[in-house]
Amino acid sequence: MLPWLQPFPADPVLVAAGVAGFAALGSFLGAAQARLGATLDGEATYGGASFWRGRSICPACRQGLPVRDLVPIVSWIALGRRCRHCGVPIPTDYAAVEAGSVLVFVLALWLGGPWPSVLGRALLGAVLVALVAVDLRRLLLPDGLVLPLLPLGLLEAWLAGGDLVVASAGAVFGGGLLWLVRAVHKRVRGREGLGLGDVKLMAAGGAWVGPAGIGPVLLVAALATLTAIGVAYLLGRGPTTASRIPFGPGLALGIFAVTLFA
Ligand SMILES: [Zn+2]
Repeated sequence: MLPWLQPFPADPVLVAAGVAGFAALGSFLGAAQARLGATLDGEATYGGASFWRGRSICPACRQGLPVRDLVPIVSWIALGRRCRHCGVPIPTDYAAVEAGSVLVFVLALWLGGPWPSVLGRALLGAVLVALVAVDLRRLLLPDGLVLPLLPLGLLEAWLAGGDLVVASAGAVFGGGLLWLVRAVHKRVRGREGLGLGDVKLMAAGGAWVGPAGIGPVLLVAALATLTAIGVAYLLGRGPTTASRIPFGPGLALGIFAVTLFA
């Protein structure tokens, strides 16, 4: 067996390092989805500072955050879920993305496989969790989070001994299919039904699941979205015909589930 295709070792130290690493990654992704989403929505929340160079600030009062306020989940609870400086509540999204990132790592580890697959799938899952958060809040999927998933999927296929041609075909087929659905919907209904972000996400996801996985992904996505709408109706908060319903969370769930279990 090739040395890099060994299973992820069940060493407690490595597992603890993985959990800590994915908590930190979730903290970064939580901030990334909030900033990229705010920027795309044209909000001046972060003062136009470059995301990559700008330091961690409170979006409400723009005060810099000390390191002790940046410990994933722990700081959020210790601070009473409010900014230390201005007392404005910190959105639950950050802690949710942090907890979600740890959860997907544990899940990928539990299901096992060669370590590039375990880490790759966990990384995919963490980015998908951040995309769910931003799509639910703002109905958009930032390119900065979606597009890296495509080369990452090809890299994972290559490292784990998969077929690059199959992975590439998955990206083309997945993206092409949703692009077609979007174009037909626009022609028939005269308005946008499926965002371009969903098309790009399915292209990136196609690199992970291959052409054979596209059908199962869309089935899971459709069932999850319909279930969520059904639950919303039961809670008396159902969408009207004019409502826009995010499809990204369903797609994210489908891509992650098919990558893990198919
Ligand atoms: Zn503040």
